[in-house]
Amino acid sequence: MINFGGGGICNFQCCYCIASAKNKPKLQNGLDFVQVFSAYNQAGMLSEDIHVQFNSGEIGVHPKRAEMFHALGDATVSVLTNSSVYVPEIAEKLRYGDAIVNTSLDAGTRGTFRRVKGTDAWERVCDNLRRYAAIRKSSIVLKYIFLPGINDTPAEIDGFLQICKETAGAVQLSSEIYHPERITGATRRAFQYMRESLEQEGILYRISAGAFSDRK
Ligand code: SF4
Repeated sequence: MINFGGGGICNFQCCYCIASAKNKPKLQNGLDFVQVFSAYNQAGMLSEDIHVQFNSGEIGVHPKRAEMFHALGDATVSVLTNSSVYVPEIAEKLRYGDAIVNTSLDAGTRGTFRRVKGTDAWERVCDNLRRYAAIRKSSIVLKYIFLPGINDTPAEIDGFLQICKETAGAVQLSSEIYHPERITGATRRAFQYMRESLEQEGILYRISAGAFSDRK
């Protein structure tokens, strides 16, 4: 697995984001992503067994996006994307089973989405997820970060579940890992409601690191 942080280039302003805009869109050792992967590709070293993850930034708005995907050849990509932009290169990878799309929605309604993401893009994001899911739903992971007092109500979870049923192969649940002390009884009840609902719907889920990870 090779991780590539997108240098903080992003069109959202999530309330929990720590991506740094000071980073440059380069590999950590200062080498250029496109040059390095083009060289690997030309040497026949990239296959679907090579796994590259785009994270920490939005690849959909990266100025070198097309070149970067082209340089990756047949490598498998795991894309942490906000899905505000429909990316043809991701769609193409999905068609061949060489991509996993991971989008953190953290909301089930337009208003809460805007509050968490700093952008009024709920409809656009849901539409793009539907387009990706139409290609390969099993490769779409939707994430929900529980934010106390913001998205821990049954209405938010019901809205999130609806889009999960339409578009998600799996779900990832997390608490707000930087401030676990803020979790309330309402947040824990919402978390339990989410789990029970996912199980009722038969949707696969996993609990990632955070205050919920050791709780049934
Ligand atoms: S989409 Fe990702 S990189 Fe962009 S602001 Fe949100 S958390 Fe940060």
